[in-house]
Amino acid sequence: MLRIGIGHDTHRLSEGRALILGGVFIESERGGEGHSDADALTHSLTDAVLGAICEGDIGVHFPDSDPRWKDADSLQLLARVVWLASQRGFHVVNADATVMLERPRLRPYMPEMRRKLAEVLGVDLECVSVKAKTGEGLDAVGAGAAVTAQAVVLLERT
Ligand SMILES: [Zn+2]
Repeated sequence: MLRIGIGHDTHRLSEGRALILGGVFIESERGGEGHSDADALTHSLTDAVLGAICEGDIGVHFPDSDPRWKDADSLQLLARVVWLASQRGFHVVNADATVMLERPRLRPYMPEMRRKLAEVLGVDLECVSVKAKTGEGLDAVGAGAAVTAQAVVLLERT
């Protein structure tokens, strides 16, 4: 049996914060605000996995009122939901994601992002796709005020 899940996440960008996407530190003047490391890409994938197994969303499992998740490494949160899916009898088949960020350009970071995400998702590198878009100078992403990510994950019963 196959299950599909979708995820979406946005973080406000501000100066003095580190920008982390897919567990990779991105050289940037601005980074994501948030209780955890504000990794929008990893959060969207986490929600996609939870969606595929009908287990609510990231806020249910890792509430920002819980000090355990303050500055949390989001790859570890993703690893927990992949484990949760495995407890339900599912493994990841593939994942596809799009990051929307005005700057910097993410292409140089893509191989490392995909490698880290593939490792946590338990799949081969060619089963994880990350794409990047800008906001074309429009909306909050285009103004450099936000980073947004969308993800789709396919699970299969092991
Ligand atoms: Zn988030």
